[in-house]
Amino acid sequence: MYQSKLFTKTLKSPPKDAVSINHQLLTRAGFIKQLTSGIWSFLPLGWRVYKKLEKIVEKELDAIGSQEVFLPTLIPAELWRETGRWDTMDPPLFKCKDRHEKWFGLGSTHEEVITELSRFYINSYRDLPQALYQIQNKFRNETRPSGGLLRTKEFLMKDLYSFHQSEEDLRKFYQKVVKAYQKFFKVCKLETVLVEAHSGSIGGNKSQEFMVFSETGEDKILYCPRCGWGTNIEKAPDEEKCPKCFSKLEKKNAIEIGHVFELGALYSEKMSAFFVDQKGKRKPLIMGCYGIGLPRLLATIVEVHHDQDGIIWPLRVAPFEYHLLSFKKDKEANRIYRLLTSYGKEVLFDERDLSPGEKLKDADLIGIPKRLIISQKTGKMIEYKERGNKKTKLIKIKDLMKFFNINF
Ligand SMILES: [Zn+2]
Repeated sequence: MYQSKLFTKTLKSPPKDAVSINHQLLTRAGFIKQLTSGIWSFLPLGWRVYKKLEKIVEKELDAIGSQEVFLPTLIPAELWRETGRWDTMDPPLFKCKDRHEKWFGLGSTHEEVITELSRFYINSYRDLPQALYQIQNKFRNETRPSGGLLRTKEFLMKDLYSFHQSEEDLRKFYQKVVKAYQKFFKVCKLETVLVEAHSGSIGGNKSQEFMVFSETGEDKILYCPRCGWGTNIEKAPDEEKCPKCFSKLEKKNAIEIGHVFELGALYSEKMSAFFVDQKGKRKPLIMGCYGIGLPRLLATIVEVHHDQDGIIWPLRVAPFEYHLLSFKKDKEANRIYRLLTSYGKEVLFDERDLSPGEKLKDADLIGIPKRLIISQKTGKMIEYKERGNKKTKLIKIKDLMKFFNINF
């Protein structure tokens, strides 16, 4: 991609209302733009990062045997009324009606829709277990959207639902999901702790949240530095001692990037989703649900990986792998650009008519991991630097492909 053709330009200063790091940096670097409070557009750079997150999480979920679906946003009021959530959902539903005065709630979570599907398709123990996921816009009528992409009214969420014959089978699958999520967060270079959590208006027997320590985080958790046990403060034990090893718990701010629930028979009983077991007995489906807000995850990566100059993207989720900066006007840089892209490499090529200082500043802000600079000074060599690392290296241009281990 030629940087001169990029739709966005970097901004010198963040918007006045930008308090959190992700809001400031993602806006200044041209990844996202706020339309109105809590509602955001993803711009070309931001969408490239987002799509990568999607791909990685899809791969992990497919690997544990779940199947992707796409469920509607407009969910009829009757379905919400079956579970009693039409009026009790917190944050409240966005509600609207069609021209026949029929009411709908915009999906803020999809337990009702998925249970409606399962009561139609799952009838026997032979149909179990099953796991379905989707990536869908969710709508939440938040009182106070805040923190850039951290708390918004509309956001893309990856939600997974599973169906089982027994609590035991649910717990086994639940652990598989936890492992898959941990792998996903590792690729995003996020260290998480899994803490006991309040189930809120989703409900169920038990839930846990994946937390990333961060000053920006709205959640407060109590964490045991000795054994790693943790809990959201809303679920904290009376005395602030670890229930596992009795060490003193530490209070920390954190961002919740995933929430997993053992729902049990909560939805299946309310919505009559039954199956017939091996003995011919009719039983409610045992369910689990597992969510990750992908824009919030993206924001959290920025909250964790940045410095005073800009974002430092982890390689696997970066908008581009290489940022090629040319400080002189000749054909060599263009040749290198075409060479790298011909090998399928993702390159942002800064061939704009700007000073080296301006180009370097933008490159730091945008945060692409591998930077290549070609200038009068470097001659037949190219300067290589990793974002977030001060060291530079001079590579002979003819050795470039060997250096990066690029082969067909
Ligand atoms: Zn402990």
